[in-house]
Amino acid sequence: MTIKEMERETPFQNALNQLEKACDILQVESDALNIIREPQKTMLASIPVKMDNGETRVFQGYRVQHNNARGPYKGGIRFHPNVDLDEVKALAFWMSVKTGVLDVPYGGAKGGVTVDVKELSPGELERLSRGFVRQFYPIIGPDTDIPAPDAYTNPQIMAWMMDEYSILAGQKTPAAFTGKPVENGGSIDRDTSTSQGGVYVLEEVIKHRFKDRKKPLTVAIYGIGNVGGGVAEILHYANNDFKIVALSDSKNAVYNEKGFDVPFLMAKKNEEGTIAGFNGAKEISHEELLALDVDILIPAALENTITVENANGIRAKMILELANGPITPEAERILLKNNTLIIPDILANAGGVTVSYFEWSQNKSGYYWDSSEVQAKLSKKMKSAYKNVLETSKTYKTDLRTAAYILAVSKIVKAQENLGVR
Ligand code: GLU
Repeated sequence: MTIKEMERETPFQNALNQLEKACDILQVESDALNIIREPQKTMLASIPVKMDNGETRVFQGYRVQHNNARGPYKGGIRFHPNVDLDEVKALAFWMSVKTGVLDVPYGGAKGGVTVDVKELSPGELERLSRGFVRQFYPIIGPDTDIPAPDAYTNPQIMAWMMDEYSILAGQKTPAAFTGKPVENGGSIDRDTSTSQGGVYVLEEVIKHRFKDRKKPLTVAIYGIGNVGGGVAEILHYANNDFKIVALSDSKNAVYNEKGFDVPFLMAKKNEEGTIAGFNGAKEISHEELLALDVDILIPAALENTITVENANGIRAKMILELANGPITPEAERILLKNNTLIIPDILANAGGVTVSYFEWSQNKSGYYWDSSEVQAKLSKKMKSAYKNVLETSKTYKTDLRTAAYILAVSKIVKAQENLGVR
């Protein structure tokens, strides 16, 4: 592939490639495809923030509303230095597909701010979060577009955002945001739901595809933020079924063939800010981590981690995509040819938006559930989505990602058709 072709592998271009593959199989008419290719609305805003030193800095904010034929727009807000319009468009598009796969009554949207949160004080972060809501207030709301956390945003930020929204609306509006702290109307277990949802799917996959393998299954996790760190802890406590042999954060990657004591490692990262120099751990490069001969590789960082450059070096038997868009379509072609099983993001990481839906329902009804109720419902949703995707992949003799797209796109197209072109 030439450099020029590689440059075209932006997240949104990748998303469209995936969509086109499914639409070819489904024989979706070009009119319908034209409608779902592009977002319905895009809003850009400058967000001025008074910094602690008295200066004013202006941050670039985005909200892309991809499609709302199936319900209000839904999707997180990302705070990251690399956020740009192309990325937010891709992420919004994947939300529409994700909510379709999981059959939650939403469309898809995404927001973002181009910012390095590590450079902001807590006060600056609060003013940026509230500033975001003031700018985007006209287009968000509990029945319009419901944001949630994403990379480098968290429950505290959702609490500030929900509060700012409520002030502007003149009434408490908890259902305008999900992923809030439990004390502010958040759902129990929303914080671990993306990781837990991925594990529910993983359990099903293992039942079907890995049942003859001897345990523990070895696991490498690329990125131990909220989602990757969460999955590491859950797998660590899962009856010795798994052995986490490698982990990475944005700076370091570490390997231990005996397996890591994950809670201890996470505590060290929290205290010292690094996972390097840990007893018994060998420091490796990020590329070496991706190429490890493990049973399960879990990319849990950002887009385009596995590309044409490194796809041929992947030796994992299975990849559980907890990040959004970690594998480019070109890389996926190579992996499928090499018989790597890929559990796609739009299924594997959909536990987050599923519990967001539970949170929103609880906010709207004013009746709150306990952990066992949330877990029972999450497990049921994830397992039945996996079953549907697996069956669709058999019916159409295609890979799981394309099958998930087929499921979601048919629902979106049907919903769009029912409404007509307007
Ligand atoms: N940001 C998460 C995602 O990418 C969660 C979205 C939500 O809960 O609305 O799926």
